Amino acid sequence: MEKSLVPTQIEFRSVTKTYGPVAAVKDVSLKVHRGEFLTILGPSGSGKTTTLMLLAGFEAPTKGDILVAGKSVSAVPSYRRDQGIVFQSYALFPHLTVRRNLEFPLEMRGVRAAERTTRVDRILERVHLSDLCDRMPSQLSGGQQQRVALARALIADPPILLLDEPLGALDRNLREQMQGEIKSLHKDFGITTVCVTHDQEEALTLSDRIVVMREGRIEQTDTPEALYDRPASRFVANFLGEANILENPGFHVESAAPQPLGTLAMIRPERICVFPINKTKLAATDQRQSVIGTVEDMIYAGPLRKYRVRVGNSLLMVREHVASGQEIFRPSDEVRLEWLRSDIRFVAA
Ligand code: ADP
Ligand code: MG
Repeated sequence: MEKSLVPTQIEFRSVTKTYGPVAAVKDVSLKVHRGEFLTILGPSGSGKTTTLMLLAGFEAPTKGDILVAGKSVSAVPSYRRDQGIVFQSYALFPHLTVRRNLEFPLEMRGVRAAERTTRVDRILERVHLSDLCDRMPSQLSGGQQQRVALARALIADPPILLLDEPLGALDRNLREQMQGEIKSLHKDFGITTVCVTHDQEEALTLSDRIVVMREGRIEQTDTPEALYDRPASRFVANFLGEANILENPGFHVESAAPQPLGTLAMIRPERICVFPINKTKLAATDQRQSVIGTVEDMIYAGPLRKYRVRVGNSLLMVREHVASGQEIFRPSDEVRLEWLRSDIRFVAA
């Protein structure tokens, strides 16, 4: 289905939240489609958690309105909102077993004991925790506690799931594994999910769309691919991945399209190819730009080789996938850099 045909589940209308003189969220307007996985991404202090707390009902907007399924929820207390929440610190009840933790939200909703058992058993199986159901939270690893927190948020089948830095406390491998788990739970439950993170990789991996926040405002909203490939501003280009911003580069930048006023040319490091100066690869000369530079340093990073190459006034980052038979360049080597003109992007300064 076209995204525009999917009903809007959540809408922020010009929402502002101030704490005394501090505006944590400024004039945020946003629509989340039903079933969508939307991630709010931004540096620390950019207003992500405040945005989520407004949606959860733990905070009230100073200005503007929040609608769920077309109705204003600004006056609805948090416990009346039909949503599952996972915080960074999983906030499991420490004195209750895994099973009792999962039963609690059902008890609150008046679900009968037999039905509770069935539903808890089903979700325990779904998150691979059946064997651990009688343990206390303190007897679980971080990843297991995280799965209990997710299961508890999902057990009452809420239409909305809110996640605040859900994987922040886990180490790298476990984080990747849990990303897969969250993705597949989202798919199975078809639940509208709003996730907050400062981790760009997590945002790119999990999301249908990403909202980039900066100093309380929305900087850009788009799909992961569009955001990475066509960042609107220098801030987004630098926050998502690495970017060569060609500001007074000391050489003429050729581009396929004319450069709009007030923008800077940008190229991603993996779009630049590095060769010995007497070689070239891209065929049609009119589609590429070719410059000569000097290698300043090379970092070997497993599957990648990262060069920094001095060209004119610029120090260009180049990222190359390691392949067999490839030439390796050393500091002070002269090299040829080439890229397609169509890979040049323009970003707001
Ligand atoms: P993030 O989650 O992106 O790190 P937050 O939403 O927590 O950002 O905070 C955004 C800004 O609002 C920060 O400058 C923070 O200090 C401020 N802020 C958040 N909560 C409060 C509060 N309860 N009182 C005062 N200032 C707050
Ligand atoms: Mg936060």
